[in-house]
Amino acid sequence: MQKPLFILFLFLIFCFSLFSQQYTDYFTNKACRIDFQLSGNTTSTNAYLSKIIQEPFWGGRRLRLSDDMNLGEYRFLVLDSLTDKLIYIDDFSTLYFEWQSTPEAALVNKSFEQSIQFPYPQKSVKVIIERRLDFDKWEKLIQFGFSPDDKLIRKTKMVDVPVKTICKTVSPDKAIDIAVIAEGYTVKQRAKFFKDAQRLADNLFTHEPFLKYKSRINIYAIAAISVDTGVSKPQNANWRNSALGSHYYTFYSDRYLTTPNVFTVRDYASLVPYDAIYILANTKTYGGGGIYNFYTLASADSKRAQTEVTVHEFGHSFAGLADEYFYDNDALNGMYDLKNEPWEPNITTLVKFGAKWKKDLPEGTAIPTPLTDENKAKMGVFEGGGYLSKGIYRPYFDCRMRTNTAKVFCPVCLKAVEDRILFLTE
Ligand SMILES: [Zn+2]
Repeated sequence: MQKPLFILFLFLIFCFSLFSQQYTDYFTNKACRIDFQLSGNTTSTNAYLSKIIQEPFWGGRRLRLSDDMNLGEYRFLVLDSLTDKLIYIDDFSTLYFEWQSTPEAALVNKSFEQSIQFPYPQKSVKVIIERRLDFDKWEKLIQFGFSPDDKLIRKTKMVDVPVKTICKTVSPDKAIDIAVIAEGYTVKQRAKFFKDAQRLADNLFTHEPFLKYKSRINIYAIAAISVDTGVSKPQNANWRNSALGSHYYTFYSDRYLTTPNVFTVRDYASLVPYDAIYILANTKTYGGGGIYNFYTLASADSKRAQTEVTVHEFGHSFAGLADEYFYDNDALNGMYDLKNEPWEPNITTLVKFGAKWKKDLPEGTAIPTPLTDENKAKMGVFEGGGYLSKGIYRPYFDCRMRTNTAKVFCPVCLKAVEDRILFLTE
């Protein structure tokens, strides 16, 4: 080997050992879950610690531990207690944040379950949970420390149900691991659930960029058992006893399907290593929900737009994509503050457009871009998105994040999903 090459070789080995050492210096192969409550109303938010749990598998990243992608309404930081060095960071969004912009939040204080997960530490750590104030401004909500040897940290399985591997081509430390959890399937419907989970995987892989990165995606089906079949529809006074307590009519919106029981969802997810949670609801009724780094929930048997909803909701929860559609009177239309730049990669208020797709715009693009037939096929800055018809702009006329008739993600959304896959697997 020539000398420069040899030096390069040594340098690469050095870099590799630096990165890999960082994980094993601080963390074990297990996961640490923190359960807490986010509480408050329209204008105030507090966080209260519920419990700390050791879980058997860590499915997340092992490199770039102190980087994040500046997504989500919240983030958490894990510091080594002795040195205050940042050893892990991640971001997420919450159902609580969406509730804060509903009329009810002006009238009453409420509390929502929330969980975060990071690799189980070897030594004492400090955890800080922060709320986003602006595109690059955060507020600390809670800070606490703990020792990994604390006897009150639960270390046993919370649930025990059959798990089937739907596809697994690579070890979890190099993969996007998706935990698919059964909701509204009775014990007799287990075979149907495994078939539905396989179809979910098939649907996901009909879309780019999931097809391109198929060899980096592992999918597991976790057969949670429900007493009743299906999920609750409170708008019809129809309540079911299902494993995760999911229901339509979230915030009085007919097709918004969510569950408030986040700790139970996480108990089931902990049976596998995971980066993302997909709850498959045994119902034909159209609907779903997806929140960044929280969960996706969608109906298994809705004929209308089954593939489209799968991919749309997963776009929210996996890559933090915003809805590009808008109505005049949506229940969530107070969600965006037009004085701030939203963190979602596929919408802008133009406050910090340089951080979005501005550099990729064709030369001479008018801002805002008029919706002419010619412009419909081009990248631009089209007014309307994020539930508002004015003041928020989207990059393309149509996209999987706007309508069910769109065939694909627009190029800005496609790149955001691809960036997320690369961030978690490289
Ligand atoms: Zn898009």
